Amino acid sequence: MSDQFNTEPDVVLIGAGIMSATLGVFLKELEPSLSIEMFETLEGAACESSQAWNNAGTGHAANCEMNYTPARSDGSIDISKALEVNVEFDLSRQLWSYLVKKGAIKDPQSFIHAVPHMSFVRGAENVSFLKKRFDAMAAHHCYHGMEYSDDKRRIYDWAPLVMEQRGDDEPVAATRIITGTDVDYGALTNHLVDHLNASSSFSVHYQHRVTGLSREGNGRWRIEIEDLANGVQRLVTSKFVFIGAGGGALLLLQKSGIPEGKGYGGFPVSGIWLRCDNPDVNKRHHAKVYGKAAVGSPPMSVPHLDTRVIGGQHSLLFGPYAGFSSKFLKHGSLLDLFESAETSNIVPLLSVARDNLDLTEYLIGQLLQSSKHRFATLQEYYPAAQTEDWTLQIAGQRVQIIKPDHERGGLLEFGTELIGAADQSLVALLGASPGASTAAFIGVRVLEKCFSHELSASAWLPKLQEIIPSYGISLLEDVDLCRRVRADTAAVLNLQNI
Ligand SMILES: Cc1cc2nc3c(=O)[nH]c(=O)nc-3n(C[C@H](O)[C@H](O)[C@H](O)COP(=O)(O)OP(=O)(O)OC[C@H]3O[C@@H](n4cnc5c(N)ncnc54)[C@H](O)[C@@H]3O)c2cc1C
Repeated sequence: MSDQFNTEPDVVLIGAGIMSATLGVFLKELEPSLSIEMFETLEGAACESSQAWNNAGTGHAANCEMNYTPARSDGSIDISKALEVNVEFDLSRQLWSYLVKKGAIKDPQSFIHAVPHMSFVRGAENVSFLKKRFDAMAAHHCYHGMEYSDDKRRIYDWAPLVMEQRGDDEPVAATRIITGTDVDYGALTNHLVDHLNASSSFSVHYQHRVTGLSREGNGRWRIEIEDLANGVQRLVTSKFVFIGAGGGALLLLQKSGIPEGKGYGGFPVSGIWLRCDNPDVNKRHHAKVYGKAAVGSPPMSVPHLDTRVIGGQHSLLFGPYAGFSSKFLKHGSLLDLFESAETSNIVPLLSVARDNLDLTEYLIGQLLQSSKHRFATLQEYYPAAQTEDWTLQIAGQRVQIIKPDHERGGLLEFGTELIGAADQSLVALLGASPGASTAAFIGVRVLEKCFSHELSASAWLPKLQEIIPSYGISLLEDVDLCRRVRADTAAVLNLQNI
């Protein structure tokens, strides 16, 4: 952390989460002379959604999340979204491998571990869905090595806690892929910020909240900042601003006043986990086991029983149980949602409220759940679970995107979206899924959107290809390259490869 201010940097990064840190690393690797200032409200990096226990730590490669593979009306399975997410994760693996090889991250096991990804279903209809999903996925090279079983003994071998004390009469099935990962995005973010801190002309300022954003006559952005330690107001101007403020991004986008941000709103969803630190239990589970979401529930509330490795300690996580809070950040204000309402987004906000009654009902139902109900849900995945082994853990906030729509007034979206000024001098990242896993993909999208000139007319492109060897080539189409990238990154990151 630095008290020294460069008041006219080339780049300002708002927020010290995984997204700003990843973009910062890309920019510094591509152009070491760039001056970058990073501002963060809280007292350190990765204290909001990127902190390990605020998210589930899944290296989302869409292996096990059934919401990415919907059934079509003819019963066949559409795996196109899963494939997109699958190869986005390959970009992150390549960036992280580059940093390990360079010595910027000393030990990959300080942030990533091989943990098999499983999907698990109960009931004949779900078993039939999972079998069709497996057939569609296993036929594609991206899912090479995926296994399927409806044999209870085999599933027991894969995940004993899930099968112990489960009745014999119910059909069950599971898929497994051993190349899955658990990622401590908090530790990773800190590595990235440390790496940036070790470079020249980079400073991170904690306890500094960005309070205003406006355009100067010369095109530079004027950024107003409050030093929360002493209340002093500071001013910085910059050529480029990245609003990587997580749940805080919408309010800052609105402050920027860019027309491209008009009409956008946010819908906050809070979350709770159950957490188990009993080593006798944890040593018997080594997988991330994803189930099917309940009807009416948002896609990110799919229940899962996960191995977590955080700070060298093994734990189990189950959830999330969703809920509603009007805060946009875990450390935010209850007024966030109300402050985000403005004339331009009232119609989208009201339209989404009108069209998503099942979601509202689901969230209210989750809020009213007693601890007994919550535990009963855990026992659907781990029938022999004992209450004394589990404690509550508050997860991060997710702000889902509400965007204007000509036909319906407004749409609720569960993905992420980059919203940039027409001249690409400012860009905000809204939304939170698939999230941290795709930070490198998002970083590359920002480079292509906002630094297209540098990418085409300078040494940036060969450097980017050094960082991401598959850059510009589709891993969905190039089977050999896909296999090579996965083998190489697995070797560097010490992950499973098949
Ligand atoms: C319950 C849950 C489960 C999840 N599970 C997964 C998962 O399994 N895998 C996965 O890949 N992703 C997951 N995600 C998503 C992932 O956590 C996020 O996509 C990712 O952490 C977002 O990173 P970020 O840098 O954009 O935001 P953050 O990490 O939230 O960082 C934003 C930072 O900006 C700061 N900030 C905000 N406003 C200001 C301001 N005005 N001035 C200065 N600083 C400001 C905040 O304090 C914060 O530190 C999950 C998220 C949640 C909530």
